[in-house]
Amino acid sequence: MQDPKDITIIGAGPTGLFGCFYAGMRGASCRIIDNLDQAGGQLTALYPEKYIFDVAGFPKVLAKDLVKGMAEQALQFKSPLHLGEKVAGLRRESENGAPLFTVVTDREEYPSRTVLIAGGIGAFTPRKLPLKDVDQWYGKGLYDRVLDPRAFAGRRVLLVGGGDSAFDWAVTLQGIAQSILMIHRRDGFRAHAATVAQVRELVAAGKMELRTFWEVKAIHGSGAIERVTLVNKKTKHEETIAIDCVLPQLGFISSLGAIAEWGLEIEKGEIKVSQIMETSIPGIFAAGDIVTYPGKLKLIATGAAEAAIAVNHAVHLINPAAKIEPGHSSNMAIFGQTED
Ligand SMILES: Cc1cc2nc3c(=O)[nH]c(=O)nc-3n(C[C@H](O)[C@H](O)[C@H](O)COP(=O)(O)OP(=O)(O)OC[C@H]3O[C@@H](n4cnc5c(N)ncnc54)[C@H](O)[C@@H]3O)c2cc1C
Repeated sequence: MQDPKDITIIGAGPTGLFGCFYAGMRGASCRIIDNLDQAGGQLTALYPEKYIFDVAGFPKVLAKDLVKGMAEQALQFKSPLHLGEKVAGLRRESENGAPLFTVVTDREEYPSRTVLIAGGIGAFTPRKLPLKDVDQWYGKGLYDRVLDPRAFAGRRVLLVGGGDSAFDWAVTLQGIAQSILMIHRRDGFRAHAATVAQVRELVAAGKMELRTFWEVKAIHGSGAIERVTLVNKKTKHEETIAIDCVLPQLGFISSLGAIAEWGLEIEKGEIKVSQIMETSIPGIFAAGDIVTYPGKLKLIATGAAEAAIAVNHAVHLINPAAKIEPGHSSNMAIFGQTED
């Protein structure tokens, strides 16, 4: 059992990260939990190489660079970040007469005085290859998340997909994998144009192969993956080739999942919140893409503002003597500043 914290934040997307920073700035203890292996939410999972133009203070910033800055800002107060854990359950208890929530993940239980749900469009899980026996190959050469490129040293790799992740890995695994074959079911790619151009150069230089209109039909091997049968969607031509590792990079599916069963008021899959970002359960706040209220905009900027509102009210709820208004960071002793 973990220590009770003032605020447990579900989701390490931009909203959750900014909420974590704000909690630290207000002197509240905080933890942050995310289902993914990396912080950043949609920015990391869906468009790390895209430029963002509408975040205050950055005329133009790559999504992955914005996440880096937000994570550094968020974690400066040493709040624990629990990655790779999916929040499922919630228990409502009490601590010295005050409400206490226990947030339950697939690994741990986290007691907390308040909760901030910053779950975006829900927990992402990688989209699987549409093969009946797909689950049996996980860990035996089939990986939908690449954590360490060196794990593919000297291996014959098949990349499946036409988005940023597939193209990024085609570039990153150069000089590491023995060979790289990339297939996509269409001839249009969702990836960043610069990375597509880079991959085309690698293909032209004979450093990898790229096939369009091909799909995986079957995976073969005794114990681990040894061969893969591919099928051309247009010609129906089939080919079985020697492959050690298959990396499907087919995007993510998301769902609100178990949070939808917590008894919160929900409208069209989104959590209804009041003006102070509180849900229908006192002590549970929500912010970012997961919430709805009149005039809601699903943007990084609005998610950050909502997180600040939620955290300030959570701090005041836990300790009514603490002001809701945070004051100005430019005057705060916590940053080594003095009053004007
Ligand atoms: C292609 C694309 C381009 C975009 N471009 C822009 C842009 O230019 N400007 C802009 O302002 N916005 C842009 N957006 C929108 C922006 O990305 C979102 O508004 C923003 O990511 C919302 O942040 P969030 O933290 O609320 O949610 P998310 O980024 O979705 O993060 C939520 C996190 O919560 C985690 N989570 C959810 N449920 C659970 C659970 N049960 N257990 C554990 N973890 C959980 C998820 O894994 C995820 O990491 C773009 C979106 C896309 C898809």
